[in-house]
Amino acid sequence: MLRDVRMRQNEERARRAPCTDGAACRRQHCDGWHALDLVFCQRTGKPLHENNVRNRDLYPLCKKLGLPWRRALHNMRHGHGSHLLERGVPLRTVAERLGHKDPAFTARVYAHVIRSQAQAAAAVSAMLKEARESLLPSCYPQREGAIRANP
Ligand SMILES: [Zn+2]
Repeated sequence: MLRDVRMRQNEERARRAPCTDGAACRRQHCDGWHALDLVFCQRTGKPLHENNVRNRDLYPLCKKLGLPWRRALHNMRHGHGSHLLERGVPLRTVAERLGHKDPAFTARVYAHVIRSQAQAAAAVSAMLKEARESLLPSCYPQREGAIRANP
């Protein structure tokens, strides 16, 4: 898919004369090519407009898939943060990625994820304790013996 996008971009680039203003171009209907090296862009190489992405692409896709669409971008952002935390990415890194100045804010917003991580950690801890207790009786006599054998 990305290869198709890149191919279409190359075709557009070849068809259009480069805009002399480049990234600084603010003309809404400029027809030149803007070499901004974006992965997804308009036919002129300019950045996509947030509202167009939302209304033309994201909302129809959500509706088609039966997903909630009203806060789709926000939900995707929140989903992204939740998945990162669930997979063990440090809170500070997630906060930086989401543009939060204070990781404490991230911790409050994603408290549900952090709580479930704490529950998972408690479950692992309980399993380790159980495993240690079931192994100890068979390990101890050998250790004691080893210590006595080499005073
Ligand atoms: Zn231009």
